[in-house]
Amino acid sequence: MKLTETPIIFTQSKKNVCGFQLPSTCIPELNPESIIDQSMLRNKPARLPEISEPEVVRHFTNLSVKNHHVDKDFYPLGSCTMKYNPKINDKLASHSKIISLHPDEKDSNIQGALKIMYELEIFLSKMTGMNRFTLQPTAGSQGEFVGLLMMQKYHRKKGNNKKYIIIPETAHGTNPASVVLGGYKTLQVQSNDNGRVDIEHLKSLMSDQIAGMMLTQPNTLGLFEDEIEEITKIIHQYDGLMYMDGANLNALIGLVKPEKMGFDILHINLHKTFSTPHGGGGPGAGPIGVVENLVEFLPIPMIKKVDDRYSWDFDYPNSIGQIHTFYGNYGILVRAWAYIRTLGEEGVKQMTRQAIINANYLKKKIEDVYEVPFSEGTLHEFVASGKAQKKRGIKVLDIAKSLLDYGYHAPTIYFPINIPEAMMIEPTESETKETLDAFAQALIEIDKKITENPQELLDAPITTPVKRLNETKANRELNLKFDYEI
Ligand SMILES: *Cc1c(COP(=O)(O)O)cnc(C)c1O
Repeated sequence: MKLTETPIIFTQSKKNVCGFQLPSTCIPELNPESIIDQSMLRNKPARLPEISEPEVVRHFTNLSVKNHHVDKDFYPLGSCTMKYNPKINDKLASHSKIISLHPDEKDSNIQGALKIMYELEIFLSKMTGMNRFTLQPTAGSQGEFVGLLMMQKYHRKKGNNKKYIIIPETAHGTNPASVVLGGYKTLQVQSNDNGRVDIEHLKSLMSDQIAGMMLTQPNTLGLFEDEIEEITKIIHQYDGLMYMDGANLNALIGLVKPEKMGFDILHINLHKTFSTPHGGGGPGAGPIGVVENLVEFLPIPMIKKVDDRYSWDFDYPNSIGQIHTFYGNYGILVRAWAYIRTLGEEGVKQMTRQAIINANYLKKKIEDVYEVPFSEGTLHEFVASGKAQKKRGIKVLDIAKSLLDYGYHAPTIYFPINIPEAMMIEPTESETKETLDAFAQALIEIDKKITENPQELLDAPITTPVKRLNETKANRELNLKFDYEI
């Protein structure tokens, strides 16, 4: 394959090839030797590749198609909401007035920037019913951690002696991790036959030591926890707080308000629901919204508006403190703001409805071939099981690898853990009927190949830059180092 042979930029380097011109400076003091302590200067030039501009452009263009991304093709990675990221978001976020801002500017110089954040907070509050939001956390998982720290402050202030947070067995791995980082222990509540929280089991876990519950709504099976009012009532009876993992908001934003269901704290993954780019580890944003009696604990600074002037507000004596340098990932906040402004209220509702329709349509297309154990009430995603396929000799891992050869990203596999051979599929609203049809067709064809040509599935992927890895070896002997000599 040509693609795998694309030379790496460092190996292409040739002495004295120049791909750039630096503008001359009119500031004489910028001579590094005059402003940097001699002991801190390099004694050898940096090992940087020397390469021409067209070669650099080709290098990065080639790299950009080696990896799968949402601009390339369908990306049904369940729970991750890999929707299309409209380019207008990037256009606004890269506006010269935005990218040239310095985070230490005085409030009076950055009224526009503050206004964008303030408006975003208002939008999120309106859509969720929460009283105030902090935009600081830079991921859903960091938001969870912030939420847990706030729970801790709330209970300490009241003199409550609490030890446990309840989480369902279908929870995302970040939930128990945040609980432990937040100083609590987890208690696991079972699911019932409908894939929802088992209320009787929940009741049996309750005691004065319960600090609260973390719940994903709809849960990771894509199902609405329809007994949510009963659940929140039980937790509140013991002065516990309800934390909503809002990673699945694409299933209900604009249609249902988390605050009305009894949640006290909620995180939103802007990079999922509100179309800011993600994958590859960042950057993201995980704003945290809270009900009125928890506002005092929010991280500082918050944003204040008085007489049409915006300013940072550090006057929160009970705050958990600052949890990120400056104010989080500002460029991501601008993108989410642009997305919400572009869609408007009706657009957000339409987005949510379309996400639900797409998931249900795709489920219908494949459910004769792949079992869907908890099928009743699917919202924005569903979890199919490859149990029957495994009996015929092909694991869900092989199915996922095979989908790569069709040019798709694989769904999330082996999660949630209460479904054997799980394949969690989230198409999002961005996809056309044609894409969904073609993807369903690919899954059906793969199923046929289990009888006709199983070796092809076991060898997959063969069309990607990196072929099938020996997963055990890759895990044990992980090697991410690239050695080069210039
Ligand atoms: C993505 C996700 C998270 C974590 O969010 P990050 O922004 O990736 O840190 C938590 N819970 C669920 C259900 C998720 O899908």
